[in-house]
Amino acid sequence: MNKFLELLQSRVGSPLLTGADISERYQHDWSSEPAGVPLAVVRPGSTDEVSAIMQLCSQHGQKVVVQGGLTGLCGGGNPRPRELALSLERLSGIEEIDIASMTMTVKAGTPLQVIQEAAAAKGFVFPLDLGARGTCNIGGNISTNAGGNQVLRFGMTRNLVLGLEAVLADGTVISSMNKMLKNNAGYDLKQLFIGTEGTLGIVTRAVLRLYPKALSRCSALVAVSEFPQVIELLHKVTRDFAGSLSAFEVMWNNYYHYITDNVNGIVSPFVERHPLYVLVELEGGDQERDQALFERSLGNALEQGMAADAVVASSQREREKFWKIRDGVAEIGPFLRESANFDVSVPISFMQPFLAAIERELAAKLPGARMLVFGHIADSNLHIVCYTGRREDIKGMYAIVYGTVGQFSGSVSAEHGIGVQKLNYLHYSRSPAELALMQTLKQALDPQQLLNSGRVLSNDLRAI
Ligand SMILES: Cc1cc2nc3c(=O)[nH]c(=O)nc-3n(C[C@H](O)[C@H](O)[C@H](O)COP(=O)(O)OP(=O)(O)OC[C@H]3O[C@@H](n4cnc5c(N)ncnc54)[C@H](O)[C@@H]3O)c2cc1C
Repeated sequence: MNKFLELLQSRVGSPLLTGADISERYQHDWSSEPAGVPLAVVRPGSTDEVSAIMQLCSQHGQKVVVQGGLTGLCGGGNPRPRELALSLERLSGIEEIDIASMTMTVKAGTPLQVIQEAAAAKGFVFPLDLGARGTCNIGGNISTNAGGNQVLRFGMTRNLVLGLEAVLADGTVISSMNKMLKNNAGYDLKQLFIGTEGTLGIVTRAVLRLYPKALSRCSALVAVSEFPQVIELLHKVTRDFAGSLSAFEVMWNNYYHYITDNVNGIVSPFVERHPLYVLVELEGGDQERDQALFERSLGNALEQGMAADAVVASSQREREKFWKIRDGVAEIGPFLRESANFDVSVPISFMQPFLAAIERELAAKLPGARMLVFGHIADSNLHIVCYTGRREDIKGMYAIVYGTVGQFSGSVSAEHGIGVQKLNYLHYSRSPAELALMQTLKQALDPQQLLNSGRVLSNDLRAI
């Protein structure tokens, strides 16, 4: 062990992992971005230890990659060979549930599912939810400003964090463990660490918002003939359900029929085929009253021509069948090898021309290309799967889709962040002035470029 690692070991209570002791788990996230074995893995068990580690790293100019549950999809937590991996896995646990304030105070390495279950045990819900819930950590969720399944009603992670504690690159601890919704006393410093993917500081603790558990849930699958009617339907149910609309998942026919025609056990409840399908849900406080409101609203939508057909779920089993169609994307990997998956956003008013432009470009540049589209359109979020079956076309698909996102004032990252994967495309969604301000913030908080260097903002990765 070299001198630096000996000093590092003296500052933390748990053994450093080096050489063969660094298991596969610390070597990459869920992306297929370049990764390697880090210099060592350090696993602090307290904020003080994180601070001591960063003081030492800043004295020695040691670069650090921060690791949560490593379910990230953009390569942000992937170590480079000379980096120190700082894993938050031992900084885990719930410190407090404040019933009156409806808040939960947690350590950054706490898995999301543990937080959800602890909230449920007290009759609350922590509404952040995503497929990686069992493995991802709240620190990772905060750093990537995770979205997931309930953004329409509760917002992204940013909306669910009231207070936060973070350690800067020089070891300074910034503790803003606020529990109040209103607090305009100066800058809202926690925002520096939400969605900045560990480039400005290491999140160590957070105060989260809890909500009362919903007592009712109504679901329907609605068939629609044209995209403008999808928007009308969205406006109608938003108005009719008065804040209780909890899902509005739109599936274009290319996606819907691909799933219902190809994936075993997934069937469409409609006899006829339609251009668009919407999974609509309401969550409220009274099943009988809400069901009546839900069915009346959809009945009106049918009468007014916003919907061509609709099937209301009469049981949990039926609801699950609808969601299986929406979540069927997880099952298509074996059919669509060498596909490119995009999670982008564009203003709703641009969605139709945006998709038409991509289709045109794909047809012109990549013969035989197909695309499948679905999305949480109320969040402006579209998921696009493009494929030709040829691996060599993937780069071309990235250029076409991200380039078109830029033309339509969209975002190359609706969720998941930039990491290293989208570094080359960030300029499609951010102006030179915005990028320069990001660099200024980075320079001010981490002048030695120690934290997650080369992620989000360009920086020479070969130097690491
Ligand atoms: C099956 C599956 C489904 C998913 N669904 C969604 C989804 O619906 N919505 C969504 O947004 N994402 C989704 N993701 C992506 C991923 O789960 C999220 O980005 C998640 O928030 C990452 O958390 P993590 O703890 O695994 O972070 P990691 O992968 O460990 O890290 C992600 C980034 O955050 C940084 N980081 C981690 N912890 C900290 C910390 N404490 N302080 C500072 N920086 C830190 C890392 O350096 C890295 O840059 C999904 C992933 C999978 C595998």
